[in-house]
Amino acid sequence: MNLSTIYKQFGLSPAVLALGEAVLADLEERFAAIDQTAEYDQAKVLLAMQKNKVDAPCFAATTGYGYDDVGREKLERVYADTFHTPAALVRPQITCGTHALTVALSANLLPGDELLSPVGAPYDTLQEVIGIRPSPCSLAEYGVTYRQVDLRPAGGFDYDAIREAINDKTKLITIQRSKGYATRPSFSVARIGELIAFCKKIKPDVLCMVDNCYGEFVEAVEPSDVGADMVVGSLIKNPGGGLAPIGGYICGTKECVDRCAYRLSAPGLGQEVGANLGLLPALFQGFFLAPTVTAGALKGAVFAANLYERLGFPVIPNGVESRHDIIQAITLGSREAMIAFCKGIQAAAPVDSYVSPVPAPMPGYDSDVIMAAGAFVQGSSIELSADGPIRPPYAVYFQGGLTWQHAKLGILLSVQKLAEAGLATI
Ligand SMILES: *Cc1c(COP(=O)(O)O)cnc(C)c1O
Repeated sequence: MNLSTIYKQFGLSPAVLALGEAVLADLEERFAAIDQTAEYDQAKVLLAMQKNKVDAPCFAATTGYGYDDVGREKLERVYADTFHTPAALVRPQITCGTHALTVALSANLLPGDELLSPVGAPYDTLQEVIGIRPSPCSLAEYGVTYRQVDLRPAGGFDYDAIREAINDKTKLITIQRSKGYATRPSFSVARIGELIAFCKKIKPDVLCMVDNCYGEFVEAVEPSDVGADMVVGSLIKNPGGGLAPIGGYICGTKECVDRCAYRLSAPGLGQEVGANLGLLPALFQGFFLAPTVTAGALKGAVFAANLYERLGFPVIPNGVESRHDIIQAITLGSREAMIAFCKGIQAAAPVDSYVSPVPAPMPGYDSDVIMAAGAFVQGSSIELSADGPIRPPYAVYFQGGLTWQHAKLGILLSVQKLAEAGLATI
């Protein structure tokens, strides 16, 4: 068996492979810690599946109204027990992460209520949901006001300003775990817990919701273990394990989740309707695989950080920092380097490997955007993918990889393309 020989068929040079192996030699301890978390989280998911007696009838398809859907009900119990919440809403009818967050917010905020983000601006797509950027059907249109407290320059919570911002109208506090496309640090579950405790001390009945996108199974605990009333995310990221073809989840208190179900379907119907359309095998099996798939993606992110750091590129997080999501930002410094990087990721893909990514305009962005994705599920970002707006500082955001081995090859090929374009020195 010769890795060098088989990798040559992808156009990977022995020099780049050797560099990769040299970087990997120092990562044994990091990888062992990631494996340990995965082992714990795997047991958590397994216990939830056993407790709820997941069995063959759970995988049957339902259509139409979907009344008495045993599999759907058990999947929701499995999510609830894994996240240690009283209730969960897990549905293919939730079309994406933004939709799940929209349901959670609009179900639990009424006209006259105020929403507070104590961690700076939320993810791009939520700005229209809230109405920070005016949009039809935004929360603002329905009379929900919004307040924001930015992080301190060093990335810490501005506790004094948060205390001042919480008022009689403050109904819900939204906390985004992952940095998204910002350059702030992502938050550990422990830090999120401290923030929730602080807010609830000031206003005990305030609801705390965590946007958990990209954070699931990165740690042994979730924000719902440290006081969050709702945790929300997308099934085409971590918890879908790469197998879920669509969907979103909301885990939380019974009162919050009930309202989400009434908002998603209709008042009075709630969780009782919603056919599973034959998707439950993928949703169960994907959730079962999610801890190890997330671990593979995390290893890829740690490897990329260390490799690119060695090549002299700024990376966030850096090679040694602890991780709270699966995103890796790499500042490449030029348009050409972003294109070369994305070509490498695309060249490693199992799907669409023959296409070449090019920058293009995208709705909602003021500059061209480049994306590399050769995914089984369209737009899935638990699969190996990279993207970034073509503007200074010319950073790509890299994430995913259904297996560590695939993530490794993609990252090595990205370095190969940069080296071939004369944009990185091996
Ligand atoms: C991906 C993401 C979302 C939105 O999810 P979509 O599925 O793209 O709609 C929201 N918040 C964060 C932090 C995300 O990473």
